[in-house]
Amino acid sequence: DKIKVGLLFGGRSGEHEVSINSARSILQAFNYPENLDKYAVIPFYIDKNGCWHSAATARQILTSGQPLAIESNIKVNIWQFPPEVREMEVWFPILHGPNGEDGTLQGLLTLMRVAFVGSGVLGSCLGMDKIAMKTAFAAAGLPQVKYKAITRSQVWSNACVFPQLCDQIAEEIGYPCFIKPANLGSSVGISKARNRQELEAALDSAASYDRRIIVEAGVTAREIECAVLGNDNPQASLVGEITFDSDFYDYETKYTDGRSSMVIPANIPDKIANQVREMAVEAFKAVDAAGLSRVDFFYVEKTGEVLINEINTLPGFTNFSMYPQLWKATGLEFDKLVDKLVQLALERQET
Ligand code: ADP
Ligand code: MG
Ligand code: MG
Repeated sequence: DKIKVGLLFGGRSGEHEVSINSARSILQAFNYPENLDKYAVIPFYIDKNGCWHSAATARQILTSGQPLAIESNIKVNIWQFPPEVREMEVWFPILHGPNGEDGTLQGLLTLMRVAFVGSGVLGSCLGMDKIAMKTAFAAAGLPQVKYKAITRSQVWSNACVFPQLCDQIAEEIGYPCFIKPANLGSSVGISKARNRQELEAALDSAASYDRRIIVEAGVTAREIECAVLGNDNPQASLVGEITFDSDFYDYETKYTDGRSSMVIPANIPDKIANQVREMAVEAFKAVDAAGLSRVDFFYVEKTGEVLINEINTLPGFTNFSMYPQLWKATGLEFDKLVDKLVQLALERQET
């Protein structure tokens, strides 16, 4: 009998459209002959309100590439799952950002007592919150930029506390610095501040996205990424580099065709590449990730330093995304990668 796989995509996050594209590529991979023999895949779509839709709607969304038009913020019964949900033996969630990559969905699937691809609750939430993530990395001895954790209430406090906060940041972190909502992705809400005025605006903007905010020292560095695959004995891929000519890898640069490119393998010394691979595996273990993660680094060429930037526990997964491309270059084709991830999910549930 074929294994029933629920391919879950969409979701209540700014990366809804990215998720649709990732799911489309994964569905195609399940149609390769060897996967077709093993798996029966049913797509499920979560709309921007958080409602689950069954296969018919999900297939339509995958074909059109367009999110379902919905009345936003209407009160919906999110507990009304399509009946086929109960038949799934393993889930392949490919939702990016909050409500998908952050442990919430992983908690639901854990309660349902069904296997799923990717990290569990702990790995997912540590991988999503940049403050918690950095704490875990620091505990594992991984080098990273200097940072400071801040809350929205500090930013939106009275006219006396806020200037003090900015003074502290200038003193402890300095300029340029990066101001980020702690729980987002795709560079949403992230700004670079070169002076006090930009810092104030950046803090206000980040506070509009998240209660938790992180301020980091800005580095001038090349951006290197490594794919990790496995459970308790994770393996690292070749490393790749993202190149672009904007000031930093912001939302527009990420999602505008031709604004950035991937170089695989990265043109860096072997010694650095090996260090990146080792650190990627350490980072994966430090947050208790499982299945897959893409680990991103800063390579400061001038000093030869490698700093960890972040881990993404459900990275972009289209045919053209860095994660599958890195594995392809390492010798694992997209369809084999998808098969391996489902097997890792099943293996994890057994133990
Ligand atoms: P996201 O999870 O949204 O991808 P990142 O922390 O990776 O957020 O930041 C997005 C981009 O911002 C990075 O790829 C990089 O170009 C730039 N950036 C972030 N932090 C720093 C930093 N401390 N120094 C230099 N550039 C940074
Ligand atoms: Mg990220
Ligand atoms: Mg990033």
